[in-house]
Amino acid sequence: MSKRQMLQFVSVAKEMPLKRDAESRAHDFNEIYAEYAGEKAAEQAARCSQCGVPYCQSHCPLHNNIPDWLRLTAEGRLQEAYEISQATNTFPEICGRICPQDRLCEGNCVIEQSGHGTVTIGAVEKYITDTAWDEGWVQPIAPAEERPESVGIIGAGPGGLAAADVLRRQGLQVTVYDRHDRAGGLLTYGIPGFKLEKDVVMRRVQQLEQGGVEFVLNCNVGEDISFDAIRGKHDAVLIATGVYKSRGLQAPGVGVPGIVRAIDYLTASNRVGFGDSVPEFESGELNAQGKRVVVIGGGDTAMDCVRTAIRQGAETVKCLYRRDRANMPGSQREVQNAEEEGVEFVWLSAPKGFAGDPVESVMVQKMRLGPPDATGRQTPEVIEGADYVEPADLVIAALGFEPEDLPTLWGETALEVTRWGTIKADFRSHETSLPGVFAVGDIVRGASLVVWAIRDGREAADSILAYLAQPAQVAAE
Ligand SMILES: Cc1cc2nc3c(=O)[nH]c(=O)nc-3n(C[C@H](O)[C@H](O)[C@H](O)COP(=O)(O)OP(=O)(O)OC[C@H]3O[C@@H](n4cnc5c(N)ncnc54)[C@H](O)[C@@H]3O)c2cc1C
Ligand code: SF4
Repeated sequence: MSKRQMLQFVSVAKEMPLKRDAESRAHDFNEIYAEYAGEKAAEQAARCSQCGVPYCQSHCPLHNNIPDWLRLTAEGRLQEAYEISQATNTFPEICGRICPQDRLCEGNCVIEQSGHGTVTIGAVEKYITDTAWDEGWVQPIAPAEERPESVGIIGAGPGGLAAADVLRRQGLQVTVYDRHDRAGGLLTYGIPGFKLEKDVVMRRVQQLEQGGVEFVLNCNVGEDISFDAIRGKHDAVLIATGVYKSRGLQAPGVGVPGIVRAIDYLTASNRVGFGDSVPEFESGELNAQGKRVVVIGGGDTAMDCVRTAIRQGAETVKCLYRRDRANMPGSQREVQNAEEEGVEFVWLSAPKGFAGDPVESVMVQKMRLGPPDATGRQTPEVIEGADYVEPADLVIAALGFEPEDLPTLWGETALEVTRWGTIKADFRSHETSLPGVFAVGDIVRGASLVVWAIRDGREAADSILAYLAQPAQVAAE
């Protein structure tokens, strides 16, 4: 591959990898972006202006050394690019696929700010790491020495797995407990395959298993084993359980068949993708095929539901959101993808009630944006007399997630939580109110992002190593 000069953004236009056309991608759950060819990755990486103060890096939660790995890619030194990329990120090929780059690195790239179109950082990151896997550059986990200390990690999502990776590479004995039958957390059962193909996740799980991380699956902590027992078995414990309590719809007529929770719907769809037998899918309860689907919500979960429904062969898919397009929390890129695939967004609208048992329709009330509230966001107000009826056979509620009440569920009242129910943990060390117990990811931050869970997991692993290096504390356990 030829060595390219940097700062090509003036003469070379931004180019994303090819996106499959909407018609072909709406019938399967495969990812929608192709991989760059090597020359194209180098060409796009060479657009970077090698900023002295790289805003891409400072806005990356992992502080990825983006300018350096872009330069190495442009110079055809891909293995070195990979080494630098993986030094700060446990799962770069996953972040390359699903980070909202438009809000993080790419949104803050100076070339984007100056109107030339961002460097396509995420697509290059994905290309580098996928190539590393293909070429055998990804190092297996092989600790130089085994250490006796053991760590129990509750939750096999990105936070728990990132910590497991760091700890196991240091030779600690690591056991990851999860209530699901597969590891990966929301990477496996939340995020659909068209954003993140499942073999990408399973390859990482396998790497951890082959490196000696023990997975105890189908194990719901608090039911199948007590939290206390886990603390008794391990020298340190990491809580990485995510947030799973769905915010419910508050309107007359809810609670009938045909109104379902987003997490149940997406989990069923992902299970079907794995080839599992899913009775609720086969019965039609969690299957959009041939149905008029209404999804309620404006976040990334809602985007994943509408696009899943399209792929299942829904007759129509509408998304109701009470604010407008500019004020929705979900990624604009995903809205565009959804629209291309045939989803209709009904902005400034909210459910007032539901009719039928099973559900037959949604009474929709129209909204306008009123004055800003204390947080500065404009408050949606109802427009009286503008209600209408929207026929629906399947309503999917995607209104966000809250933490489960872990202190009660686990009978551990000394585990302190915030007023939102998230676990109280030091934001640097990730230590909780219980000695030797750490917490990371969504269960601390509330519903957040994969990249933040990875950062937390890596930081907490370092804190656990430091904690275990203090013999007095380990002995006290
Ligand atoms: C539909 C959807 C789409 C998303 N899309 C994106 C995206 O595109 N980009 C992005 O960056 N983020 C996205 N997110 C957010 C992202 O998935 C989360 O922020 C991230 O997965 C949090 O990681 P975590 O490790 O804290 O928890 P999780 O990934 O939630 O993993 C927690 C794990 O803990 C297990 N667990 C919980 N309680 C127990 C218990 N008592 N005993 C045993 N195991 C337990 C769960 O089974 C789960 O496997 C999305 C979220 C959803 C719901
Ligand atoms: S902000 Fe953009 S141009 Fe500057 S170093 Fe980062 S990717 Fe390159």
